Amino acid sequence: MTMLKSTSVSAIAKAIFPKLGLSQVATNPGVFAGAWGGSGPVLAKHSPIDGSLLGRVRQATPGDYELAVAAAQKAFLAWRDLPAPKRGEVVRSYGEALRGLKQELGLLVTLEAGKIRAEGAGEVQEMIDICDFATGLSRQLHGLTIASERPGHRMMEQWQPLGVVGIISAFNFPVAVWAWNSALAAVCGDATLWKPSEKTPLTAIACIRLAEKVCLAHGVDPAVFSLVIGDGPTVGELLSHDGLIPLVSATGSTRMGRRVGEVVAKRFGRSLLELGGNNAIIVAPSADLKLAKRAVVFGAVGTAGQRCTSTRRIIVHESIRAKFTESLVAAYRQLPVGNPLKPGTLVGPLIDEAAVEAMQKALAEVKKQGGRILQGGGRLKGGYVTPAIVEARNDWPVVQHETFAPILYVMGYKTLAEAIALQNAVPQGLSSAIFTTDLREAEQFLSARGSDCGIANVNIGTSGAEIGGAFGGEKETGGGRESGSDAWKAYMRRQTVTINYSNDLPLAQGITFGD
Ligand code: NAD
Repeated sequence: MTMLKSTSVSAIAKAIFPKLGLSQVATNPGVFAGAWGGSGPVLAKHSPIDGSLLGRVRQATPGDYELAVAAAQKAFLAWRDLPAPKRGEVVRSYGEALRGLKQELGLLVTLEAGKIRAEGAGEVQEMIDICDFATGLSRQLHGLTIASERPGHRMMEQWQPLGVVGIISAFNFPVAVWAWNSALAAVCGDATLWKPSEKTPLTAIACIRLAEKVCLAHGVDPAVFSLVIGDGPTVGELLSHDGLIPLVSATGSTRMGRRVGEVVAKRFGRSLLELGGNNAIIVAPSADLKLAKRAVVFGAVGTAGQRCTSTRRIIVHESIRAKFTESLVAAYRQLPVGNPLKPGTLVGPLIDEAAVEAMQKALAEVKKQGGRILQGGGRLKGGYVTPAIVEARNDWPVVQHETFAPILYVMGYKTLAEAIALQNAVPQGLSSAIFTTDLREAEQFLSARGSDCGIANVNIGTSGAEIGGAFGGEKETGGGRESGSDAWKAYMRRQTVTINYSNDLPLAQGITFGD
């Protein structure tokens, strides 16, 4: 326990790796490796916290990929025959196992992705929540009974498992996104084949090791939850092109989703796309500004601005713009940036050097356009930056684009219609919010003329969705829905069944044929 309170990457790694099934390499002190079954090139994973080597992982070759798909396919054939509530029991056990390792897996998320401790643990909590949800769902995968127009006939709709579902995930939610997909897919009777981000292979190995243990304890083929590690151009492309994968659920940038969507559509497969956001909060004159400030700061700087739902723009009524912006600048000045293992830190590092450069490039572009940096934007040592607040115009290309870093663009408005139009005038459509205590304004924001996003919140920021609702967004965010509500239907195939229990063969639409 004392060890787990440490702020040293190597001390934490040493304490948690064995518990998470990651092997240690003694030859190089302080270096640990998660061995994995691929036979391709070695991937060295460094922690964004201090750059130290966390582990080395062998990636999959095309041959390894073929073996993994075949194993998942075989596992699927047995898994689909298990009654759904029995599948739910396996998912429930997985949730229980996660409860026991919440601290350790959460810390691994911190080591590998650089999230602060609370957010690392929060991600594991999200996995637990979706396991609970999926367990309940395993007794609720019901269809409809529909009135038939023919006498002596019964018509109904039932849902069948799909097959092996491919899961491509992004670095910023290295474990939760897999759980959202795999827990639902599993109770639906599908096997899953996961291609995690090559930036977060160790958390993926830990999740799968745990799934393996749980499956074996239930006498289930562990290949129901399969893993292939490798980059987009090799393993990702194989998965998108693979006719044995009826559904590819892909989370990541719009650039990646455009490619995956195209490839999967060409072979008439299905894709579920969860892509980039460009989320805004409207702050109305009647807003509770204390609440709005907390929501904007958490939304814009939480996870160092590396959430798909991060707040990227605020649209503030002109009458309160100066006052509200000043209060944000003051809050930003107090932000503790640094080692995410340290209690009290609120902003950890960006994932890698490329992310730091992308932030610097965006800020340079803003200046070129004539924008004013009101606060932050500095580059600290390593992958650390100071979150930025910038006055900008919505139609600048840099503002229209999702820069995956803590940059908050501020703009003003005079009428609510103008604010909503600004909020919608971006290519992405993930999350949106309004802070207001005026019921009319709130309802306008939620009306058909209001927000065009998949998520619309009132007096809640743009990030931090609950798993009970369907999660996802419109336009270039890809249109997919995951997690709660009826998102499970994406993981199954719908079948319309008509049964004739009469002695005749009446045809639909009253057609007579050779009578
Ligand atoms: P990324 O697009 O660089 O990579 C995401 C995944 O796609 C990785 O596993 C990568 O290897 C894979 N990939 C890349 N090219 C591919 C190809 N040609 N074929 C198949 N797979 C390919 O994204 P990232 O930098 O890891 O994550 C950040 C992005 O993800 C942001 O845009 C963020 O908004 C988005 N995101 C969206 C959601 C959501 O639910 N909407 C959630 C998390 C992250």
